[in-house]
Amino acid sequence: MSRRVSNAEIADKLFGLAYLLATRKENPFKIKAYRRAAGTIRALGESVAELVHSNADLTRYSGIGPAISDVIREIVKTGSTRRFQELQSQITPELAGVLDFPLLDPKRVLRVYKKLKISTIDELKERLETGEIGRVMGPRMDQHVRRALSDHGEMLLNEADRAVAVVQEFLIERCRVTRAEAAGDYRRRVDVIREFHFLVETSNFPAVVATLETYGGNGEILESSEDSALFKLSVGRLRVTAAPGNRWGLALLAATGSPRHLHKLESHGPGLSTLLQSTDRYPSETNVYAKLGLRFIPPELREGGHEVDLSARAQLPELLTVQDIRGELHAHTTSSDGVDTIEAMAEAARARGLSYIGISDHSQSLKIARGLSISRLRNQLRFIEMLNERLEGIRILKSAEVDILEDGSLDYPDDLLKELDYTICSIHSRFALDKEKQTARILRAMDNRYFSILGHATGRLLLKRPGYEIDFDRLIEHARTRGCFFELNSNPHRLDLSSEHARLAREAGVRIAVNTDAHSTRELGFIKYGVDNARRAGLEKQSTLNTLAWPELVRVLRR
Ligand SMILES: [Zn+2]
Ligand SMILES: [Zn+2]
Repeated sequence: MSRRVSNAEIADKLFGLAYLLATRKENPFKIKAYRRAAGTIRALGESVAELVHSNADLTRYSGIGPAISDVIREIVKTGSTRRFQELQSQITPELAGVLDFPLLDPKRVLRVYKKLKISTIDELKERLETGEIGRVMGPRMDQHVRRALSDHGEMLLNEADRAVAVVQEFLIERCRVTRAEAAGDYRRRVDVIREFHFLVETSNFPAVVATLETYGGNGEILESSEDSALFKLSVGRLRVTAAPGNRWGLALLAATGSPRHLHKLESHGPGLSTLLQSTDRYPSETNVYAKLGLRFIPPELREGGHEVDLSARAQLPELLTVQDIRGELHAHTTSSDGVDTIEAMAEAARARGLSYIGISDHSQSLKIARGLSISRLRNQLRFIEMLNERLEGIRILKSAEVDILEDGSLDYPDDLLKELDYTICSIHSRFALDKEKQTARILRAMDNRYFSILGHATGRLLLKRPGYEIDFDRLIEHARTRGCFFELNSNPHRLDLSSEHARLAREAGVRIAVNTDAHSTRELGFIKYGVDNARRAGLEKQSTLNTLAWPELVRVLRR
């Protein structure tokens, strides 16, 4: 019998098929459907090949309809699909090689090929090593190629949430552990997750390890010991550690880290190592901290900063929660590049328990995102006034995401800005300006009295592109004296401000708006990632802008 195809291989094939269909400009919904199915299969614990061989119904998994189910069966039985081979035979060998690496963006890589006069992945790797890609094509291209070729399985929090849910289910349903809890960076809500660490309670750890080796049809084991093992799974690297219930709190604390936090715990009470060497019972983390003479420290704060001292003095901040958020201040609609109407966004915000939502569509210069001309924005403002007469339980605020132009001026005239309740001002162009110019550009924008909140301050896209260079200390000082605020953009691809920047702003007393920048009703749910990051920065209700009720907020925003 032929070797069973792993879930990861099936997912790669579906992804490649989606790309080939895209190059032929086929139905975008169909292309999206293939991509979604690939994502589902990559995360699945059960072996798809086995499911196919036992004639199971694949359409019970989300994103897999009858047509895609047939394609998957064909891949399992023949290793490929006729459609894929047919399309592949029509493309160049260069492109076919690139498609073997699903994280590579074919369009960008072909540009590199052309510029450097190369045609294979091996040559691409070689030029990456010599630094030529960075020199000729710039640091962003270098970062893209490096990440796509290295396959470290890094992922963002929203992807990690999905993966943790399926791994947890697999551990409980298939490995039959009595308890499974995600620890590590994930529990501390670090913005990019490189490895999962699960703590499990089980009477048979070797059996758990053996079952995990079947994960996704191929769970590769990298390390193992009596009570811990490391795997490379289709969803990423997974470490599993066994702990008994009466030592759960201690083991959870050790598995959650960070190393710097654990190190600081050595100098309190008897010290953490003493507890780890003892056989005493520590069913919860609170028991451990109490033994060290400390109060419980929320995982998001455990980075080895001042949290241990603050805990000893009972001065830990009371961290922000999603329930503290009273309104949304950054949302897009069908007027620019969003997918839902103003009314739908308002109703979704109300359903989430918010009492206001600011509509901040793009401004006139951002043509690519259908930015609103002056007259279209004026019409939108009238429309919002009309909606506010009619809607109950939610107030729609008049706003805009105003581009900060290269010279630091704002993308609408003052007499229009004056009509808005507040503004989100952002940079969407000329990212490559040097630090001095970029900083001066934003400082100048803040001098405009209609500047309220700086949107996604550094423009970073996690795992894709670094932020632009700015002197953040000067921005904070200027914001403080001018009465401007920062946004913490909750989109898991951004999380911008970073927790480090958000901490600096908080310490300087500049309030932060935790915004979703939602482009659909669903994306209003991003708020939880923003709150996670805000908690890592030690943000409290009173250091956050949109925890205020609207009447107070108006007062605070006024300059
Ligand atoms: Zn923006
Ligand atoms: Zn936006």
